[in-house]
Amino acid sequence: MNYNINEKGYYGDFGGAFIPEMLYPNVEELRQNYLKIMAEPSFKAEFDQLLKDYVGRPSPLYFAKRLSEKYNTKIYLKREDLNHTGAHKINNTIGQILMAKRLGKNRIIAETGAGQHGVATATVCALMGIECIVYMGEIDIARQAPNVARMKMLGATVIPATSGSKTLKDATNEAIRDWINNPVDTHYIIGSVVGPHPYPDMVAKFQAVVSEEIKFQLKDKEDTENPDYVIACVGGGSNAAGAYYHYLNNENVKLIAVEAAGLGVDSGESAATSVLGKEGIIHGSKTLLMQTNDGQITEPYSISAGLDYPGVGPMHAHLYKTGRAEFISITDDQAMQAGLELCKLEGIIPAIETSHALGVFEQKTFKPNDIVVVSLSGRGDKDLQNYIDYFKI
Ligand SMILES: *Cc1c(COP(=O)(O)O)cnc(C)c1O
Repeated sequence: MNYNINEKGYYGDFGGAFIPEMLYPNVEELRQNYLKIMAEPSFKAEFDQLLKDYVGRPSPLYFAKRLSEKYNTKIYLKREDLNHTGAHKINNTIGQILMAKRLGKNRIIAETGAGQHGVATATVCALMGIECIVYMGEIDIARQAPNVARMKMLGATVIPATSGSKTLKDATNEAIRDWINNPVDTHYIIGSVVGPHPYPDMVAKFQAVVSEEIKFQLKDKEDTENPDYVIACVGGGSNAAGAYYHYLNNENVKLIAVEAAGLGVDSGESAATSVLGKEGIIHGSKTLLMQTNDGQITEPYSISAGLDYPGVGPMHAHLYKTGRAEFISITDDQAMQAGLELCKLEGIIPAIETSHALGVFEQKTFKPNDIVVVSLSGRGDKDLQNYIDYFKI
C-alpha cells in the first residue's frame, strides 16, 4: 500500500479538486507549478535558510525523562512549540510565501478560525513586505482578540465574515470569493493539509521537515531513525502530516492520530471528525466530514480552537479508512489534565491542541522499550486564559 498522493491528487478514495469553474485557473496554475518550484535549488536554499535563521530549526527532539518514567516507556517530544510564533504553522506559511513570490503574486489572502494561521500568515507577509488580507468570522474576531491585535500589528487587514455562523467556514467562503475576483495577483495561503489538490500535498511537503529532522535526531540519540510510534493531534492534520511524512510507507512505525472528542464522542458536542464523519466534500476536497443526513456540515465543538474543524485532510481520511493510523479521541477534560501534567512533570506549557496528543498516555499502554515520539505542535501561551478558567487558577 502506498500512502502518498497519486498523480491525480488522491490519497486512495480521498482528495481531488472539487472547485467552482471560476477558481479553476488559480488552482490549476498552482498545480502545474508547485512541484517544479519546490525542486528548484534556489527555492530549497531560501526555504532552508529561513527555517534555520528565522524559525529556529531544527526544533529539538527532547527526551521527556519524567513523563517517560511515569508511563514506563521512552517518550520524545518534537518541540515545534519552540518555533518562531509558537507552533508548526510557520513552516507552511514560509513555504507558501516563497511559492507566491515565485508565481509572481503580490497579494496574500488567508482565512483563520482561532487566529493562529492568520498570525503565521501575517508574519511571513511582513517578512516579505507583501500585502496581507485575513478573513475571519465575526464571532471568532470577538473570541480571539489577542490574535486579531497581533495580525494588525504585523500589518495585516482583518476582514470580518458576517454571513452564516460567522465562524471559520464563513471566513473560508469569503476568502474563496476574494480569490475568484483576484485570480492574477493573489495567492491564497491555506493553513492545513486541506483544500483542493495540490494544497494538501504542498502543505504536507512543507511540514515534512518535521519527520526529516526526527529521523536524524533519533539516529543520534537511539541509533535508529525509526520510532515505534508517532503521535500527533489532528485538526485539519498538518502537524500530524509533517510528523508522519517520512514514515508513511514504513509500517514498522505505528501512527496515532488524536482527535478532539469535546464533551464525548457521542455527546453531539465533539470534533472527532474521522470517527463520526462520512464521506463528503468540504473546501474542495473529498474527505471525511461531520454532516447531517442530508449533507449539511455539522458545527464541531472542542475546547481547543485549533481542533474544532468539521473535516479532516484527505491524507488522514485515507490513513483512517485503511487502518494505517490508529485514531484515538480525547475529551476536553482528558486533554486539560494531560496538559497540566506536562507543565508539572517537564516544565512545558503546551497548546491545548497538543494536550490532546498527550492525553493518549492515559488511554493506551506502551512497552518499556517502545520509542514514542509526540509532535508537540505548539506552546500554551495563547491558551493561558482557557487554562485559568478551567483549573480556576
Ligand atoms: C492549528 C494548530 C493545530 C491543528 O492544526 P493541524 O493542521 O491539524 O496541525 C494543532 N496544534 C497547534 C498548536 C495549532 O496551532
